[in-house]
Amino acid sequence: MILPTINGSILNRSVLVLNTNYAPMDICTAKRAICLFYNEKVDILESYQEAVHSPSVTLSLPSIVKLKDFVRHHHMDVVLSRKNLMIRDKHQCQYCFVKKGPLTLDHVLPKDRGGLDSWENLVTACQQCNRKKGNRTPEEAKMPLKRIPKKPNKIHYFQQFIQEKQTSWRPYLFMESF
Ligand SMILES: [Zn+2]
Repeated sequence: MILPTINGSILNRSVLVLNTNYAPMDICTAKRAICLFYNEKVDILESYQEAVHSPSVTLSLPSIVKLKDFVRHHHMDVVLSRKNLMIRDKHQCQYCFVKKGPLTLDHVLPKDRGGLDSWENLVTACQQCNRKKGNRTPEEAKMPLKRIPKKPNKIHYFQQFIQEKQTSWRPYLFMESF
C-alpha cells in the first residue's frame, strides 16, 4: 500500500502498541502501525473514525494494535530525551509554571557543578527562569521547583497521550475496566 501524503497529519496520529498478552509496550505513529499491519506483525484492535486511502485500498486508521509475536525482554523504561522530559513536565516551566515557549531544559544541579543528565536532574524551564537561575541550585536561587522531578512510569507516560480521540485506550492502560 502506498501511503498518501495528502493525509500526512492523520498518519502522525498516536497508536498504542500492545504485546500479545495485552501489556502496553509502546506508542508509534499511525504510519508505522499501518506498515506493521501490512507486514503482518500486528493485528488492529481499535481504529479511529478516519480512514486512509490508496488507489486500491481503504483502511480505517488504527488506534490500538497488538503484536503477533510475543516480545519477551521488554523493559518498561521511558527513554530520556528532550521530548519525553517535556511530556513529563506537561510542557510547563517547573519554576513558574508558564506554558508558553520557547521552553528549555534546565539542570537542577548545574552541569559544571557535577549535575547529571538524568530524569531527576533535568526539568523543563522557560528561558526567563533558566537565565535567572543561572549557575545556581534552586535553593541558592530561591526558585523552588513546583514538582520533584522523577523518572516516569511507562504506563503513566502512555496515559498522558490520551486525548479526546484516544478514549478507547483507557481500559488498556488500566484507567477503567473493559
Ligand atoms: Zn519559568
